[in-house]
Amino acid sequence: TDLTPDEAALLARRQRVLGSLAPVFYEHPVHIVRGEGAHLFAADGTDYLDCYNNVAVVGHANPHVREAVADQLTRQDTHTRYLQDEVIDYAERLLATFPDRLDHVAFTNSGSESNDLALRMARTFTGHRGVVVTGNAYHGITSLVSSISPSFGTGLPLAPFLVAVPIDDVLKKPDGTFDDPAAASAARAELVVRFEAAFAKLHDAGYGVSAVLLDQIFSSDGVLPGATGWVADVADAVHKAGGLLIADEVQSGFARTGERFWGFRRHMADADIVTMGKPMGNGIPTGAVVYKHDIGDTFAACTRYFNTFGGNPVSMRAAGAVLDEIEARELQRNALETGDYIAVEITRLLADAPRFGGIRHAGLFIGIDILDGDDSRTPDPDAAARIIAALRDRHVLISGSAADGSSLKLRPPLVFSRADADRLLTELAAITPLFE
Ligand code: PMP
Repeated sequence: TDLTPDEAALLARRQRVLGSLAPVFYEHPVHIVRGEGAHLFAADGTDYLDCYNNVAVVGHANPHVREAVADQLTRQDTHTRYLQDEVIDYAERLLATFPDRLDHVAFTNSGSESNDLALRMARTFTGHRGVVVTGNAYHGITSLVSSISPSFGTGLPLAPFLVAVPIDDVLKKPDGTFDDPAAASAARAELVVRFEAAFAKLHDAGYGVSAVLLDQIFSSDGVLPGATGWVADVADAVHKAGGLLIADEVQSGFARTGERFWGFRRHMADADIVTMGKPMGNGIPTGAVVYKHDIGDTFAACTRYFNTFGGNPVSMRAAGAVLDEIEARELQRNALETGDYIAVEITRLLADAPRFGGIRHAGLFIGIDILDGDDSRTPDPDAAARIIAALRDRHVLISGSAADGSSLKLRPPLVFSRADADRLLTELAAITPLFE
């Protein structure tokens, strides 16, 4: 569909002031004025089903979050060098969701900032510089984390102390499961071999290994929840190599993957540092780095760390309200049940469609591979883009994943209901010719 004159004018104004550093979703961008639950509304009342938002996890314009933030704004909101209740109350609640050994937390304002701090801590603690990530990883925008994010594109060089290990060829098992124990242990063994080779390379280059940094659902590698447990094996291997495991929970954290509250717990991995952001404040900027205290003690002994806004009372109240909502509305269970329902129904709908390459999911994090439709089963990014655009025109918002963009990615707010799921399925059914 074409842009309306109003949309075209706003887009032109946006490009004039925000330039090309601020891309929008879709060729026909979605102009929203308000939200509720898993729905976004245009000025004319058009109701978009949001199947992609991992910030507004407890629902757009959540009243409980709004009230907590408004209440705090009437009390005080300043920087973080006073004794304040809000940050302590939240830190205690957050740490209670972790195993005992992850016993301290530092607050930040974004996922990027969290990963940056985590890497600096790992380097100080280990005395090494080398970093290992997955093949198409994304970890953020600071100078350091952008240099270890291969998905950034080819314009800027990646860090010399980085090794990126491809994992998608091992973990893209269509149904996302490794029910056959032999297949699961073969996948796990293959991945350990690859990471050990990366460690050896960094040792040989003189960098050593400070950390393996892993997005715990591998959201930009194509959404790879399968072979549960392999991250635990890699944690053991990196510990032997003298480095740490940093679990990036920006995408996988806060109950999204259904089975566990944190993605690294699905793998039963011994993470040393855990980073988070996006969903934590339901849109109020906030992030955190949870760590084993000796790692932080070493860092604090070497450098001064002060974060003006990290842990500010308004963000902490928002974050507390998010935890309230996840608990009170049983959103972890909803993620598990609604995610399973969607995966089963999409499989039923598309099983025989030639372009359907398989579905992988954990809770409400879903990846669908799109193929060219002939016997070669070649991934087809153009077909994936056509499906994403067709759904957008039908007011259903999803996006893509994988290095070549050939996977669909669905990751709705955790309040996504059965009725929301049925609307998604109805709209998918209406575009099945695109899967032929
Ligand atoms: N890590 C992962 C896995 C992410 O997906 C993102 C954001 N897409 C980040 C880190 C960076 O977070 P932020 O945009 O809040 O800096």
